[in-house]
Amino acid sequence: LTERLKETFKKISGKGRINQTDLDNAMREIRAALLEADVSLKVTREITRRVSEKAIGADVLESITPDQQIVKIVNDELTDVMGAEAASLNKSKHIPTIVLMVGLQGAGKTTAVGKLARKLVEENNARPLLIAADVYRPAAIDQLKTLGKTLNVPVYDEGTDVDPVEIVKNGLEKAHENNNDYVFIDTAGRLTIDEELMDELKRIKDLTQPTEILLVVDAMTGQTAVDVANDFNDALGITGVVLTKLDGDTRGGAALSIRYDTGVPIKFVGTGEKLSDLDVFYPDRMASRILGMGDILSLVEKAQHQYDEQQAQDLARKIQENNFDLDDFIEQMNQVQKMGPVDELVKMVPGLSNMPGASNIQFGDKDFAHMRAIVSSMTPDERMDANLLTPKRRKRIAAGSGRDVMEVNRLIKQYKQTSTLMNKMQKGNMGGMDQMFAG
Ligand code: GDP
Ligand code: MG
Repeated sequence: LTERLKETFKKISGKGRINQTDLDNAMREIRAALLEADVSLKVTREITRRVSEKAIGADVLESITPDQQIVKIVNDELTDVMGAEAASLNKSKHIPTIVLMVGLQGAGKTTAVGKLARKLVEENNARPLLIAADVYRPAAIDQLKTLGKTLNVPVYDEGTDVDPVEIVKNGLEKAHENNNDYVFIDTAGRLTIDEELMDELKRIKDLTQPTEILLVVDAMTGQTAVDVANDFNDALGITGVVLTKLDGDTRGGAALSIRYDTGVPIKFVGTGEKLSDLDVFYPDRMASRILGMGDILSLVEKAQHQYDEQQAQDLARKIQENNFDLDDFIEQMNQVQKMGPVDELVKMVPGLSNMPGASNIQFGDKDFAHMRAIVSSMTPDERMDANLLTPKRRKRIAAGSGRDVMEVNRLIKQYKQTSTLMNKMQKGNMGGMDQMFAG
């Protein structure tokens, strides 16, 4: 059985690596896909460069082609650029949390105010106040009032003849009086950015010191959305972006360029005209939409899953044979990292949580990169037999990996703890089985 597993394992890791020809071919197609999705030329180039660096020499999983593997690498890179994890609305320490909504006319600001207020009421039982500070179009105030009625949420307005800054000031007083926990300020937009608009927004910003300045941009406008984001960010310092009209036929590449250029997270996306048509922004979903190669991605995911299973089996065998070495340790850390917090994992294994050292295995992305560097600096012999790791060798490894000796020591300690833990688990299982057979 062991031989067969070894054979399978060899086949998986021996499938091949991505070479320059693979890369050139795949990247041509990917570049076209990104540009077609409205990703700016600059960002497309940068993505291409980063992916090329990462992809060259990368392993290709069994049952998929180098092309497909590259698509996956691109997808991961796009996800990374867009922030990897979903960002939420920031909350102020003291109520009210003030959210200033800005953007061009027609981008969807007023609609977004309604959508966000609805979400907060439904999910958090919030008591928001909406302030109508768009005094240039009477219809804008009515629109907000209608939304307020629908949601049963108060709207503060003073008509169109008052300075918006004054309205906001009075509206905030009202919010304090009424104990509102959120205040949304719906501001005016223009067809293009102008000084007067920015000036007004700056005055509102100075007055209110908002927790969030959310820029609302229309995803359908492509590159324009990116320019708008840059201009508003330079002038006001935005804290988040709401990307609207993603229900349209745009692939949404603006999301990528905006995040890349401004560094500001996309927080929400609008997916329709209804008040419920608001989603939290998920970078991974957006990445796959921008690439438009979802079928390939699910193929790769399946292959990855099979590969992980194989690795887990291989690991199990090594534990059984009692030769769990430092390479395996790193591989196991890698698996654990993919699965999420180790605490959770530990809880799922009966009896494990009581064992000493069980919850010590906690680390982040950066720690993991460091661990990997340390193990890479060991010789193959050392990786297979941690007993060889004398203080002198540890010093050499520390120098080689650019980490300090303490970190090397910690890693070796963690490895030994894990190794012991695994032995115990192993014996525990055996014990259990023996008992079962005895009984
Ligand atoms: P504002 O000028 O920025 O306040 O924009 P509005 O909120 O008034 O929205 C302008 C138009 O865009 C309205 O007709 C909205 O119904 C529509 N709209 C807003 N968000 C979305 C969205 O996510 N999808 C679609 N399809 N339409 C939207
Ligand atoms: Mg409006």
